[in-house]
Amino acid sequence: MEIVDSTIGLAAFKGCGFVPTMGALHEGHFELIRSCVRDGLPPLVSIFVNPTQFAPHEDFNRYPRTLEADARGCQEAGAVAIFAPTVEVMYPRGMARAQEEAKSLHLPTVAVKPRLEDACRPTHFAGVCQVVARLFELCRPQRAYFGEKDYQQLRVITQMVESSRSTDTTCSMPQIVPCPTVRDADGLALSSRNRYLQPHDRERALSLSRALQRAREILRDDTAPGTLGATEVIARAESAMRDELERHQLQIDYAVVRDANSLEPVTDAHAPLQPGMLRALIAARLGAVRLIDNA
Ligand code: AMP
Repeated sequence: MEIVDSTIGLAAFKGCGFVPTMGALHEGHFELIRSCVRDGLPPLVSIFVNPTQFAPHEDFNRYPRTLEADARGCQEAGAVAIFAPTVEVMYPRGMARAQEEAKSLHLPTVAVKPRLEDACRPTHFAGVCQVVARLFELCRPQRAYFGEKDYQQLRVITQMVESSRSTDTTCSMPQIVPCPTVRDADGLALSSRNRYLQPHDRERALSLSRALQRAREILRDDTAPGTLGATEVIARAESAMRDELERHQLQIDYAVVRDANSLEPVTDAHAPLQPGMLRALIAARLGAVRLIDNA
């Protein structure tokens, strides 16, 4: 597996299928690589733990770094190369300048308005938009593959690309390809941070996927013709999710049902609910481990 750590040599991958990651790869990431192979594009995987998307109190320093194992997994999944840049390659003007530049970025509405990750991690999406734009600029992919696991991030990147296209028709931003969340057999969404979970916490962590399942059932059953209005059924689904999470003593950052595109609350009490129109999203903490999931 070729590992590229500078911009020299990247030109060979222009037009590739691109899978940006922070490493500590698992089946969720490998499935993104396989999607790219199925689309007939050579997959380039980036591995970069981006300092500008972590707040000072977050886990940047202890984020798992497992490059050798990642390289083996990438090879098996069909990647052609890994781009593992240094901080200097990504931010040649230095970190202080990069942090300042992140702060001054104009972010898509979905990165600042819904009060989900944006409320819990106020500087996070600035860093995400900064690093993804820089990776696109360096790698020049034709398509970029993102997991629905980080649903707000997927919406943020999609909006960022759409807005660049609308202001600059010659812009070379890639097409964004959403990929479904990969789960363990018991329903837990795969995450690089799952390795922080103690064995006895795993059962409690499953309450996220159970809560989403509960919301799904309520939204399906209670929106049948002649039953409750939209806001009422959403309130029921949110309450059922909170009950499930609280029963297992998780600390809830949010457990909500939102418009699937804007991620803002549905306010029209009688909005006709169509399949795919809503997203249930959860962020909850189990001690020091913060988990997110959605459906
Ligand atoms: P990360 O390395 O965690 O920043 O994630 C890199 C990419 O992998 C992002 O597009 C994530 O949404 C995606 N991803 C992470 N976990 C999963 C999963 N369980 N299923 C599908 N995609 C995932």
